[in-house]
Amino acid sequence: MPSSSRPKILIIYTGGTIGMIENPVTHTLQPFDFSHLIDNVPKVKKLAYDIEHLQFDPPIDSSNMNPTHWAEIALAIEKHYDAFDGFVVLHGTDTMAFTASALSFMLENLHKPVIITGSQLPIGEVRTDGEENLITALQVAAAVDAHGQAMVQEVAILFENYLWRGNRSTKMSADNFNAFRSNNYPELARIGLDITFNTGALYRSPSRRPLKVRPVMDLNVMFLELHPGMTDTTLRHLLSTPGIKGIVLKTYGAGNAPTDATFMRLICEAVQRGVVILNVTQCVNGGVDNTLYETGNSLAEAGVISGHDITSEAAVTKLMYLFGMGLAPDAVKHYLECDLCGEVTL
Ligand code: ASP
Repeated sequence: MPSSSRPKILIIYTGGTIGMIENPVTHTLQPFDFSHLIDNVPKVKKLAYDIEHLQFDPPIDSSNMNPTHWAEIALAIEKHYDAFDGFVVLHGTDTMAFTASALSFMLENLHKPVIITGSQLPIGEVRTDGEENLITALQVAAAVDAHGQAMVQEVAILFENYLWRGNRSTKMSADNFNAFRSNNYPELARIGLDITFNTGALYRSPSRRPLKVRPVMDLNVMFLELHPGMTDTTLRHLLSTPGIKGIVLKTYGAGNAPTDATFMRLICEAVQRGVVILNVTQCVNGGVDNTLYETGNSLAEAGVISGHDITSEAAVTKLMYLFGMGLAPDAVKHYLECDLCGEVTL
């Protein structure tokens, strides 16, 4: 346990708009180093916290984020887990929901806050949202309950007025300061004059075992998003992608897909080859109910697994994580139907 009574927070700066500056030649935004970022938030010193930081070298735009970077973040948290009360990850918004979902699976038995934030405007801009997001993320990471236990014991995204569960979040806007939302789960906290935690919604791991980091992700997974008019050739080609093990099938409405014979045959053949197919709705809100329509029920009968109300980001990273543990397809299917860390309502 950290010895000082002042909260000890580790900031892991990966890049993203929050720390970017304008390239004088191309006039595009590009990541810059942590000292520039923190120099722009002198108010941080007013917090009575012991803050240390690590930074990606070089910091990156989150569109360049990949599972190796997720492992780097997870392993840094593991290395410093006992020495800090909480962790703040500064990250670009574009793939923040994927990183948040991946970390929630990688960090098994997490009992400390991992708060991910970033901003829509760089920290050096006069109207930046980065300063407030950083300060609030630090406060959330330091928050304790009446028993002195960490208030947040999960991976969460802090953005503007809300704290969201990481593996329930989606980037909803490219230009609104409230850029994130959990469409199927309530907010973990509301940020206004006060930080008001929604205590009933906070995740508590049922395990008292020590943190276990699982940094290996299997990359043989993909999205297959249906649209009217998708040809059999396209579908056959995608389902036969060499090495593919898991597919997030993005279906219509409550998990519906065409029932025509060729479509169903191609899906059945892929399932029989051992490809795990997870049915996730294209809708931003609600989930799969494959008992509602014949068009959804046929997928279930073909051996396609219901993703219920899981987000696309959590679905694809959960497949990477389960296959990354070396599990066989049947075991992967079993765990897809389990809620591992608050990612799905069953
Ligand atoms: N392209 C940026 C990134 O994701 C966008 C942002 O941070 O808002 O790194």
